[in-house]
Amino acid sequence: MSANSLPVRGVSPSGEGIPVWHSLEVNQALNLLNSNADSGLTPEEVQQRWQKYGDNELTENSGRGSWEILLDQFKNIMLLMLIAVALISGFLDFLAWQAGELKPGEVPFKDTIAIMAIVVLNGILGYVQETRAEKALAALKKMTSPLVRVLRSGKLMEIAAKELVPGDVMLLEAGMQIAADGRLIEESNLQVRESALTGEAGAVSKQANLILPEETSLGDRLNLVFQATEVVQGRAKILVTNTGMSTEIGKIATMLQSVENEPTPLQLRMTHLGNILVIGSLLLVSIVVVGGVIQARGFSNLRQLLEVSLSMAVAVVPEGLPAVITVTLALGTQRMVRHNALIRKLPAVETLGSVTTICSDKTGTLTQNKMVVQSVYTNNHVFRVTGEGYTPTGDFLLDGQTILVEDYPEISALLLASAICNDAVLQKEQGEWAILGDPTEGALVTLAGKAGIEQDQWNSKLPRISEFPFDSERKRMSVICQVEEVATGEASLTAVDPLITSLIESEPYLMFTKGSPELTLASCTQIYLDHKSAPFTDAQRQQILAANDQMASLGLRVLGLAYRPMLEMPEAGADEKYEVNLVWLGLVGMLDAPRPEVRAAVQESRNAGIRPIMITGDHQLTARAIAIDLGIAQEGDRVLTGQQLQQMTDQELEQQVDLVSIYARVSPEHKLRIVQALQRRGRIVAMTGDGVNDAPALKQADIGIAMGITGTDVSKEASDMVLLDDNFTTIVAATKEGRVVYTNIRRFIKYILGSNVGEVLTIASAPLLGLGGVPLTPLQILWMNLVTDGLPALALAVEPPEPDVMNRPPFSPRESIFARGLGSYIIRIGIVFAIITIILMLWSYNHCQMRLVEGLDPEGLDPERWKTMVFTSLCLAQMGHAIAIRSNNKLTIEMNPFSNIFVLGAVVVTTILQLMLIYVPPLRAFFGTHFLPPTELAICFGFSTLMFVWIELEKLFFRLIGKKSV
Ligand code: ATP
Repeated sequence: MSANSLPVRGVSPSGEGIPVWHSLEVNQALNLLNSNADSGLTPEEVQQRWQKYGDNELTENSGRGSWEILLDQFKNIMLLMLIAVALISGFLDFLAWQAGELKPGEVPFKDTIAIMAIVVLNGILGYVQETRAEKALAALKKMTSPLVRVLRSGKLMEIAAKELVPGDVMLLEAGMQIAADGRLIEESNLQVRESALTGEAGAVSKQANLILPEETSLGDRLNLVFQATEVVQGRAKILVTNTGMSTEIGKIATMLQSVENEPTPLQLRMTHLGNILVIGSLLLVSIVVVGGVIQARGFSNLRQLLEVSLSMAVAVVPEGLPAVITVTLALGTQRMVRHNALIRKLPAVETLGSVTTICSDKTGTLTQNKMVVQSVYTNNHVFRVTGEGYTPTGDFLLDGQTILVEDYPEISALLLASAICNDAVLQKEQGEWAILGDPTEGALVTLAGKAGIEQDQWNSKLPRISEFPFDSERKRMSVICQVEEVATGEASLTAVDPLITSLIESEPYLMFTKGSPELTLASCTQIYLDHKSAPFTDAQRQQILAANDQMASLGLRVLGLAYRPMLEMPEAGADEKYEVNLVWLGLVGMLDAPRPEVRAAVQESRNAGIRPIMITGDHQLTARAIAIDLGIAQEGDRVLTGQQLQQMTDQELEQQVDLVSIYARVSPEHKLRIVQALQRRGRIVAMTGDGVNDAPALKQADIGIAMGITGTDVSKEASDMVLLDDNFTTIVAATKEGRVVYTNIRRFIKYILGSNVGEVLTIASAPLLGLGGVPLTPLQILWMNLVTDGLPALALAVEPPEPDVMNRPPFSPRESIFARGLGSYIIRIGIVFAIITIILMLWSYNHCQMRLVEGLDPEGLDPERWKTMVFTSLCLAQMGHAIAIRSNNKLTIEMNPFSNIFVLGAVVVTTILQLMLIYVPPLRAFFGTHFLPPTELAICFGFSTLMFVWIELEKLFFRLIGKKSV
């Protein structure tokens, strides 16, 4: 069968004529797909197959259809109440129409029509926002969509997962999310978590050499891997068999998690507030109606009572608020992405502003993750190594003199181990040396290259047959090689490279181990000196440990190297059995310079009351040197090691956790305990992580942060936020944005709710003051709540940060939204707002009555126009409020009016719109307003400025008594 008759998208692989991959031998599978295990596909083959199979992508299904999302919008209690108001108002209009009470030219049912239009518009807006937010989040997620490693034309390269085609040879390692279905070609201790597919939580061991019966169930196909499952441990080479929708997960794509678009705590609280307001307003309505009926001893004034009630019900509800909050959060995520912080879960935007503790990894986040070996320690000698970056040229110096590596057998053997016990590949890209793989390993390949020890050459002399891969728990790795000639008996030992023969006697296998010096040293029983292994003395061990401390205290990352000749090939996964009785080679110390910009970010976070903590797998002295350099810790500060942590109870750890700023030699499981201990102390913790095992800690943290560049897919999936540049500075920038978003949300909540309180009080007072009639119709109130309040509120949402935003401690995320004076502000301003409007209402009512009685009004002026004066003053006063509320403490004249041009714009546009409602006849007819002569309009403007003046005076007063409002 040729590649042309491969399974096609959507067709079951066990269907007619389609290969059953798990029942095939590796070679059969490779033949069927016209691929090659060593070189993969050629670019032409890839192109052809891509044309046939398309992108390796799943069509995501969010789980809810468009109709469902649209219908969900109307489940909102505020909209339901508006619908009820529309129906009652329609009924009243119907009565008026029947009784012939409509004025000439008046549009019947206009309140009902307008309210329903607003309900529908709100629903559509909500729908558009929700679908757009889902799409935006999905698009953002794609930015971190995984890269995969493949062999193409014999070259190892990284490509986007969606570019995979059947026949590709893909390489897997721990932490990767598998991007397509495939048949194992070879594997080393491969453990895969397939819960996404089978629901089975535990990891499954996979084996390449199995051939399984056709009927084997999905969960038992141990020689296959499946898309969307995760590599927990080990490595493997895979032949891609199915991509896109024809993978197993593709066939059940609906099971895929939908894009997470959870409501934020604030949104939930706002929904709750909305419910309370609706219930409150219904209560108010019943009180007004029942009270009115009792007072009138009958239903004679029921209509008027109903009109007042309807207006109050509409006035109390902040119809525009949910939309403004959603838009603000969305804008916040966009600003954060510009700072390289990608939000994966919306609630994170809000929580970020409350973070009190940032637990950061060292390597890559605080440091540059560009490792360069600076010194090598063997046989009591410290060799200094020169050279820059990953360029494999440089000298080895002993006591300032350049030496020839060949003259020192110990260093030669150590460099061989560095090159062989290594998964990184050093290659030239566009004229520059670069590494593919882990920078720690890259530094070691580069080091070996400086002595002319080239990986490729030695890999063929010592082919790798097995390995015990690295993980942060074990803090080491080993590879087992075959000494080709000895194993196959093809040549006598004399034909073998002398360097190798100095490591073995006649054993056919050689294991090289590298890892944390303390652990590696503890596994050694001999030391390699002068071309052979010799017993290890205690004095030698002490010297090595002292040299390790010396290197680490300079901030170097130190690795120990060792080897072991072996008679038999080790069993997979039996690392504890084989990584013993090793022969010690030496130490390598590499520099990973701190990121220069981090110092300022650490200082900024301290000023903001946020404590940075370093959590690292590295040595305590290395960690301390770098932490002190960056200002995270000070000389003499306590460092807690993983070992010490292990011996502590949770209570003991909780007592220490506020005092320790450096955790060294920790394992990922310790990270989880640290977060939990901090959280028990009431801290709001942001925690970084990159490995598979970091996922639980990332999930537990209030903000789990994954690394965009070096992070595994599993850690990204568990995170709330991804750092696109892996940089600590980005975390601090994101917390700042979080604070700005929260401050702005509080600002417009104050603005909108203050206005609502003012409206309700004004409406309620009209009948009490015996003015007869409702000053504002439901339609006018909706206009105010949605347009004249809504536009400036949106503009306030993009208010730039106040200068002290990072000079104050974080606020608790659990505080009420009304905390810190917000509730009292709303009531106070609402009352002031109402008092100003009521004074104007009384004056204008009397003024209009008087002019009517005295016959001073010219033809066409309506005596009811006092209502329009009230309506206009309420709207205009809100404009003054919008301008003044931009800062809590600064007077408006102290601020640059152009620093938020949107507020100015919103004020101008809204004022013009309001004037159009009065002076454009069709709008006037529709909104039920009346023409106002210029003097009366000027009076409205005059009264409205009182609001602005009041808020400015308040600021002055608070400044005088030394109270800072936030
Ligand atoms: P951080 O948690 O700050 O990123 P880290 O990168 O030093 O710290 P790990 O990657 O878990 O943490 O490494 C822990 C230790 O394991 C290192 O100090 C080193 O001794 C050893 N180590 C790191 N990388 C390798 C590797 N590729 N091979 C063998 N040992 C390694």
